[in-house]
Amino acid sequence: MTTSIEKNTLQFHKLNGLTPTVESCTMKLIEELGELLQLIGKGQGSSGEKMNLQPELEAWETLESRMIDEAFDVAQSAVTMIFTLCEKIGYNPLLWEQAHENKLRDKGYLAAGKMEKTDFPAEGFLVGMANKFIVLKCDDVKEYLTKNDQMVLDCITARLALGRIHDKRKVDNNYLVINTDEPYAPEVVAIMKRHGHWG
Ligand SMILES: [Mg+2]
Repeated sequence: MTTSIEKNTLQFHKLNGLTPTVESCTMKLIEELGELLQLIGKGQGSSGEKMNLQPELEAWETLESRMIDEAFDVAQSAVTMIFTLCEKIGYNPLLWEQAHENKLRDKGYLAAGKMEKTDFPAEGFLVGMANKFIVLKCDDVKEYLTKNDQMVLDCITARLALGRIHDKRKVDNNYLVINTDEPYAPEVVAIMKRHGHWG
């Protein structure tokens, strides 16, 4: 899991050391929620018993810090459930995440004005962008290059492909390309940053 304090976001990994099922995710979620509820109960003294935590609090721990640990366990379990369900029904979890974010905005829980200040700065959202790709618009190639130029370009592309084949690298990658002047570009950058695909 990675965090970004500046963006007020938390990012949870898809766990790759487990083979979860919907049922096992449900059990884990209930278990972790139970552990969190137990701490909340002890914090409020509602259990009516002397605080007796297992394992006992370390010197640096507080009840609240233990609650945070458990809240992360609950969140990680819920994320694992999301990945498992998406895999089962063949949905892309990233698209689902975007739909979830849209829902939060619709409900007003994620205020657009505040997000522009923190997550999507109006200026400078491209800071740190690495120029890794050369993008040519096919229409421009046809319109502005001679037939000979186009053949040369084909040769260059083929040589690059041969180089990748020689190095046993994938040659049929497909990329989504967006113009940075699109109004939604800062959102895309924010998503890429959140998934560690920036710079
Ligand atoms: Mg736990």
